[in-house]
This record gives sequence, structure tokens and C-alpha cells, in this order.
Amino acid sequence: MLVSTLSLLRTAAEAGYAIGAFNVYNLEAARAVVAASEANRSPAILQILPRAFELGGAPLVKLCLAAARDSSVPISVHLDHSRSPDDIKAVLSAGLSSVMADGSHLSYHDNVAFTQAMADIVHKQGAVIEGELGQLTGTEYVLPVSEYEESLTDPDQASDFVAKTGIDALAVCIGNVHGRYPKEPRLDFDRLAAIRSAVAVPLVLHGASGLNESSVRRSIQLGISKFNVNTELRQAYLDALRESLHSSPSADLPDLMQEAVACMSKVVSMKLHLFGSVGKAGILTT
Ligand SMILES: [Zn+2]
Repeated sequence: MLVSTLSLLRTAAEAGYAIGAFNVYNLEAARAVVAASEANRSPAILQILPRAFELGGAPLVKLCLAAARDSSVPISVHLDHSRSPDDIKAVLSAGLSSVMADGSHLSYHDNVAFTQAMADIVHKQGAVIEGELGQLTGTEYVLPVSEYEESLTDPDQASDFVAKTGIDALAVCIGNVHGRYPKEPRLDFDRLAAIRSAVAVPLVLHGASGLNESSVRRSIQLGISKFNVNTELRQAYLDALRESLHSSPSADLPDLMQEAVACMSKVVSMKLHLFGSVGKAGILTT
């Protein structure tokens, strides 16, 4: 069933687990997420990146919405990392009710202005919005310490940011990175605890590919309600295609698609277990 992202996140926060938000680019990925969620009786989020939206347009949004509606478990559909007011308006018109407005590359002042303007548009449509404070691009391994510290989410600023923008969920930067981690990630849990005390909205952690079990568990205990997963799912898709074509060069397209769905489903299933959402497909409490 198609549900609201916010009720998924609030229910998860109350019950002490987190929701997996998986970036999908096409039908196979959407089917993989839904199949794994159904098999595990787990809620989940289908996420569309701007690049995928550029390629797939409204048909991709509608495909994801249809997959969510037809599912036997609670699923929401969300636009990830948008810097474009036009894209945000376009997905709302296509039926989406959950978006991320990403102004994290801007100065604090401009991030507030951009996110607040997007929140107004999104809320007028009865939809929900995630914002981001801090910059995920930097890691402590490539930046000088002072610049790395500056790229992380400041708890006091987070409180001001949420109050001024009216966002419904906040993506935090506590040492998490997009893509593969160059070394074992070291998340700043003291910072996460301080952010959790400073704001009331659900917290989101991007860059969950490669986070170990103890980091995920601790993040959930300290208030993370949504983990974004892109890299590992995409890698499973590419590996499935590569291996299928290598072992049987004349494989037919439906067979390749089926193999890709099966491989991605395994990754989704593993993440759902990690996030503690298995068996949580019952009635939403909020
Ligand atoms: Zn992200």
C-alpha cells in the first residue's frame, strides 16, 4: 500500500527501528525493493534520484507509485536530493507526496532560504519534505580537520534550520559519506545525540552502503529513522548483469532482468534486517 513517508518514519522512531530508502532507476529495482519488503513483511521507501527522474520522467514516478499501491506492505515514494524547484513541482504534479530539497551545497543562509521556499510549495500540496544540513561530500580522510568539522551538522544550527524552514525530516552529516567508504566509517555519535536533543523531526542518514551493523544499531538508538541505500543496490544490479552475460553471453533480456531483480532483492533483504524493520508491516501508529 502507498503510505506517507512521515508516518513511516514516525512509526519507526517510536518503535526503535529505521526505514530503508532504496534508490531505484527502473522497474526491476522497484520490483526488487517491493518483493524483498513483502517477503520480510517490512515497510520501505522507493527513492528516485534527479538523474533517474531526468531519464524516466513522470512514467518512472507513476511506475513507483503503482508498485507501492499494489504492494501488500507499506511503501512510500520519495524524490531524493533535488536542487531543482522545477523537478520538485513536476514530481508533485506526477503524484509524489515526499521530496528532499537539497540546499546543502549552499551557504547556511541560502540553504535556509531555498529549503524554506521548497517547503512552502511542498506543504501546499499536502506533501512532506526532507532537508539537509552539513555537507556529505567531505570525509575526514581527504579534508583538513577544521574543514571536515565544518562539513558536519551543527546541533544548534540544526535547531534553527528546522524552525526556520519547517521541514518534516532532517538529513544529518555525522561522518557518513555517499558511495563507498574509503576506510571503516567513524560516525560522530555524540554529535548525533546532540542533534537528536536539539530537533524534534525524524533524522535521516544518507550513505548507508557500507555501514557496519554496530554503527547502524547505534545510529537507530540515537534517533536515525531513515537510511538511504544507493551504492550497494546499484552494484548488485550491475554485478548481476555482468555475471549473467559473462556466464551466458546469449542470455535473453527477461532472464537478465529476472536475475537483476533477484540479486537486488537479496541486498534489500539484508538491509531490512539490519535496520530492524522486518515484521513491521503492521498498522502504522502515527
Ligand atoms: Zn544522499
